[in-house]
Amino acid sequence: MSHTSPHAEPVVSNAPDANRTTPHYDRFLDCIHCGLCLPSCPTYAELGVEMDSPRGRIYLMRAYADGRIGLTDNFVRHIYQCLDCRACETACPSGVHYGSIVERARAEIEKKRPQTLGERILRNLVFQKLLPASGRLSLAFLPLRLYQGLGVQRLVRAAGLTRLLPQRLRDMESMLPRLPSRSLKNRLKPVLPAKGEKKYRVGLVSGCVMNEMFTHINVATANVLTRNGCEVVIPEKQTCCGALQVHSGERATAEELARKNIETFEQAAVDTVIINAAGCGAQLKEYGELLEDDPQFRDRAAAFSAKVRDISEFLAEIPLDETLGRIDARVAYHDACHLAHGQKVRSQPRALLRKIPGIQLVELEESDWCCGSAGIYNVTHPEMAGRLLDRKVGHIRKADPDIVATGNPGCILQIQNGVGKERRAVEVLHPVELLDRAYSRKDEVGRIK
Ligand code: SF4
Ligand code: SF4
Repeated sequence: MSHTSPHAEPVVSNAPDANRTTPHYDRFLDCIHCGLCLPSCPTYAELGVEMDSPRGRIYLMRAYADGRIGLTDNFVRHIYQCLDCRACETACPSGVHYGSIVERARAEIEKKRPQTLGERILRNLVFQKLLPASGRLSLAFLPLRLYQGLGVQRLVRAAGLTRLLPQRLRDMESMLPRLPSRSLKNRLKPVLPAKGEKKYRVGLVSGCVMNEMFTHINVATANVLTRNGCEVVIPEKQTCCGALQVHSGERATAEELARKNIETFEQAAVDTVIINAAGCGAQLKEYGELLEDDPQFRDRAAAFSAKVRDISEFLAEIPLDETLGRIDARVAYHDACHLAHGQKVRSQPRALLRKIPGIQLVELEESDWCCGSAGIYNVTHPEMAGRLLDRKVGHIRKADPDIVATGNPGCILQIQNGVGKERRAVEVLHPVELLDRAYSRKDEVGRIK
């Protein structure tokens, strides 16, 4: 799925869909070419190339929409080299909605560019067949569960056999976290009662990959919510949020998934929809924009999005149960791009961490600078992702924490991979895991008493 051909010839010459007659064209006009976003753009900082900056990419996308350039390999390369981290949106004084512009450009590219049969099959399998279908996704993870559960991974690593794998596969193998057992997944029942008085009825988005690889974070989220008076509904018919599809130009699939999720959570009749993954949260909050051209769903999508809260945001809005046990640790917080830039959620996770007795929160330089994970960017663009990870690990080394906390599973994996090569052991956790740990310590003290 990488697009790195150096050729500059147009590969397709037919007129673009996103031309001057579409309402989306106006979004280009917000850019006043001031360049204030350039110092915040990780790919511009690394490459120093104008066409790998937000301003340069907007110029390219507008030139394509105007029909001044064709769908060249160079155009595709610059658009896909973007992390879609949206740091440029934070920096922009003119309110440019860059994420929406680049995501629509990718949808246009995928509609028009010729794909090999292999690419078509792989994209269809990942974006349409696996991510939206939890049963199939579980089956796809089964070989990895067996690989770990039967001890094969331990033997392969001890014998140094991973050296025989191609570099790309070796990198992916090294990033594989310890997968939760099936029994842990089954602990998430469709309705979890509030502990004590019920104050809220919330829906929990369990996610697709999140539910396979990070069930422990979902369990921690459910524990913290029920402890704080929430009846937690986890609708079985919910599906993947569509974020990976939108970032990869598979917009039609994402729209279908959005409609299904909106209907499912409407039926669940919840006050709030809680999400603990930054990338998915940003997408759920933008269902209104995703379905803006669908008159049947436009208003329902906007109403759904208005109910979505990141877990840290929700906990900051309610009177929190502060009977928290001690965690004596230096904690550095990494801002996931789609939480800080996509959702403007920065202070809430820090405030929650400060409430835990014993935690010393240390600031990380460039804490809102992308770690290179960016959805599947670390798979499609490993070289640039590696450069950004090295930069992040350098800052972590300087801050010298015991724990790095961050609110996105992709960042957790990426940073775990980076700090795993360091001499000093550093845990990488979701803030809600630390809250859950602090509550459980208090409970243990309570039981002893
Ligand atoms: S989304 Fe990130 S990588 Fe892309 S142009 Fe904006 S700042 Fe640069
Ligand atoms: S995206 Fe915003 S900050 Fe960047 S050049 Fe355009 S107007 Fe300026």
